[in-house]
Amino acid sequence: MTRSWLRPASLDAALRALAAETPPRLFAGGTDIFAAEAFRTAWGQPPDGDTLDIDAIPGLEGIEKRDGVWRIGARTRWAGIRDASLPAFFDGLRQAAGQVGGPQIQSRGTIAGNLCNASPAADGVPPLLSLEAEVECASLSGTRNLPLNEFILGNRRTALRPGEMVTAILVPDRTASTRAAFLKLGARRNLVISIAMAAATLDVVNGRIIKASVALGACSPVAVRLTALEADLVGLAPGEAAEAVTADHLSGIAPIDDVRASADYRREAAAALLRRLLAAMAETMLTEAA
Ligand SMILES: Cc1cc2nc3c(=O)[nH]c(=O)nc-3n(C[C@H](O)[C@H](O)[C@H](O)COP(=O)(O)OP(=O)(O)OC[C@H]3O[C@@H](n4cnc5c(N)ncnc54)[C@H](O)[C@@H]3O)c2cc1C
Repeated sequence: MTRSWLRPASLDAALRALAAETPPRLFAGGTDIFAAEAFRTAWGQPPDGDTLDIDAIPGLEGIEKRDGVWRIGARTRWAGIRDASLPAFFDGLRQAAGQVGGPQIQSRGTIAGNLCNASPAADGVPPLLSLEAEVECASLSGTRNLPLNEFILGNRRTALRPGEMVTAILVPDRTASTRAAFLKLGARRNLVISIAMAAATLDVVNGRIIKASVALGACSPVAVRLTALEADLVGLAPGEAAEAVTADHLSGIAPIDDVRASADYRREAAAALLRRLLAAMAETMLTEAA
C-alpha cells in the first residue's frame, strides 16, 4: 500500500486535508505515533494510511498573551515550555515539561500531541487542568474552545470531531501572586511513565488561600480535579494545606493495578504526593516572603 506524507504550508490546507472522506493521521512530534507504530509492527498489524505533518504550518508554535489569555500554540514543544520565561503560575507546567521523557523527547514532543494522545499518564494534563486551560479546536467550519476536562473523554479518547485538529491551548491569566507546582512519581527520574502525578495552583491573599485548583494524574482513566480538597483548602494558610489532605479527598479516583504499581500503592502514593506538593509550595512561598 502506498502511503503519502502531506506537509501543508497553511492551516487552511491542513484543514482541507482533514476534511477528506478518509482523513490522514495528524503528525506533530511523532513521539507517541512512532512508539505506537512500533507496537503495531511487532504485532503484525498494518501501518496507518496517509500522514499529515503539521511542522510547516506557521503560527502553531510559541507562547503569547492576547487579551488576557495565554495562548500556547499546539505545536509548542516541551523544551520550548520548559525554557520559556513565563509568570510564576506557569511553574507547574514548566516543571512537567522538564519531566516528559528526557531532553530528546522534550525537543520533539508537543503539548497538543500529549493531550490528543489522551494517555491517563500524560504529564501535561494535571498542570493544565489546574490552570483551567481550554483547548482550541479548528475545522473548516470554524473554531471552538473546550475546557480541558471536556476535551479528554477517556483513555485515548478525546472530543475532537472528524475534520478537527487542535490549534492552541488557552490559559487564563492569573495574578502576580498565583503560584503553581507539579510533582511526578516514577520508578526513576527521567524517561519514565508516571505512577502518579499531582499539580496545584494556589491564589494566596494576606496569607490565606483564596482559590485552589488541584489535579491528580495516572490514578484514573482521565486526570481529575480534586474539588472537595480544593474547597477545604480555601481559608487555610499555605503551611496548613498539606495536613488538610485526607483519604476522603481521593474517594473519586479509580487507580488501576498495572506493571508500574498496584491500585492500593497508587492511592497511598497519590495522598503522599499531594501532601509533598502542597508542603513544597508553602515552603517556596515562605522563602519568597522572607
Ligand atoms: C521514550 C518516550 C518517553 C516518553 N515519556 C513521556 C513522559 O514522561 N510523560 C508524558 O506525558 N509523555 C511521555 N511520552 C509521550 C510523548 O512524548 C508525549 O505525549 C508528547 O507530548 C506527544 O507529542 P507529539 O507531538 O510527539 O505527538 P504525536 O506522536 O505527533 O501525536 C500523538 C497523537 O496526537 C495527535 N495529535 C498531535 N497533534 C495534534 C493536533 N494539533 N491536533 C490533533 N491531533 C493531534 C496525533 O494524531 C496522535 O494521535 C514519551 C514518549 C516516548 C517515546
